[in-house]
Amino acid sequence: MGLQRECAVIGCQKPVKHRGLCTNHYSRTWRGLPLLGPPRMRVRSCPMCGASWGVLPGRKATVYCGPRCRRLHLIATHRASNRERDEQIVAGVQAGELHRVIAERLGVTTSTVSRVAARYGLRRVPYAPRRRA
Ligand SMILES: [Zn+2]
Ligand SMILES: [Zn+2]
Repeated sequence: MGLQRECAVIGCQKPVKHRGLCTNHYSRTWRGLPLLGPPRMRVRSCPMCGASWGVLPGRKATVYCGPRCRRLHLIATHRASNRERDEQIVAGVQAGELHRVIAERLGVTTSTVSRVAARYGLRRVPYAPRRRA
């Protein structure tokens, strides 16, 4: 046993600098360039920025190149789910539902409903509209 200290690229004997690669090969993948030789490890690439790196056999591969891309991905998915929720809130308000009813249905607070409704330029309807005779 022992840590691999040589670059992941076969034929490259430079010491590992980062992510199992030497300075030269790491900077190549970081700039989106292909490795110069076949890697002796599995190569993963980040779905957010496309940077790639080598993964030692038996090691668990991370999905993202680092915390920055993982955060970016989380923000993106969070935004997508928020948009869906916002659309349901807007649809409810436009249908004349009370904010309290919408909030209960979607599992959010009434202030969230009000905030989203206000953002979409919808007026709060505090009571069910009553027609005057
Ligand atoms: Zn190398
Ligand atoms: Zn990345």
